Amino acid sequence: MAEKNLAQAIREQMKSNGKRFWAGDNISDYIDEEQKEVLINEATTAFEGVLDALLIDRETDPNSHGTARRLAKMYFNEIMAGRYDPAPDATAFPNDSSDRYEGMLVVRSELRSMCSHHHQPVTGVAYIGIIAAEKLIGLSKYTRIAQWCARRGTLQEELANDIAREIEKATGARDLGVYIQAVHGCCENRGIMAHSSLTQTTVLKGAFKEDTGTKKEFFDNIKLQQEFAPR
Ligand SMILES: [Zn+2]
Repeated sequence: MAEKNLAQAIREQMKSNGKRFWAGDNISDYIDEEQKEVLINEATTAFEGVLDALLIDRETDPNSHGTARRLAKMYFNEIMAGRYDPAPDATAFPNDSSDRYEGMLVVRSELRSMCSHHHQPVTGVAYIGIIAAEKLIGLSKYTRIAQWCARRGTLQEELANDIAREIEKATGARDLGVYIQAVHGCCENRGIMAHSSLTQTTVLKGAFKEDTGTKKEFFDNIKLQQEFAPR
């Protein structure tokens, strides 16, 4: 009987623990750095099989020679890194003194993601808004969290929910909004071949959802941001 490879062993462990491992799920609890190297080797062999099935000559085509390994490394270390890496460290600072910041904070984060249906690139921007709660995180952390959520196989609708949930966890803010604008490779490069088709998704919680004034302030802020950094 063929020996079990590491990916198979980890999948079985996740199944028996009832741990979901969809393309958009983080599974960093099940993989350490050493194991990642083994998984990259296993994925290289699997990608070699895919190239063979596509009838691409890996032996004499110099451009396809190292492609299987490049693909394996790219998936684990770059385009799907948010599945295998633990959450970015977002140390929170207290915001509970008498002169605490009580206003709205809106951060614009560039996103690179990949659709889980076709593994085509998704490129866009997320606007993350919160009403500051009793703690604050560093401004760059909003983008780190958003990018960590994005670097997986995603659906834009799910991605907006994931970012909202992780920002809520890191900041303790109950009033928040996430607005994403993105272009999808799977609409541009295949299927309907529609260039520059833009998809927008919005998740609103707490005051952002219930209070018209807060909601308006959020979208006014986004408009201001877009004037400074148009896309
Ligand atoms: Zn797609």
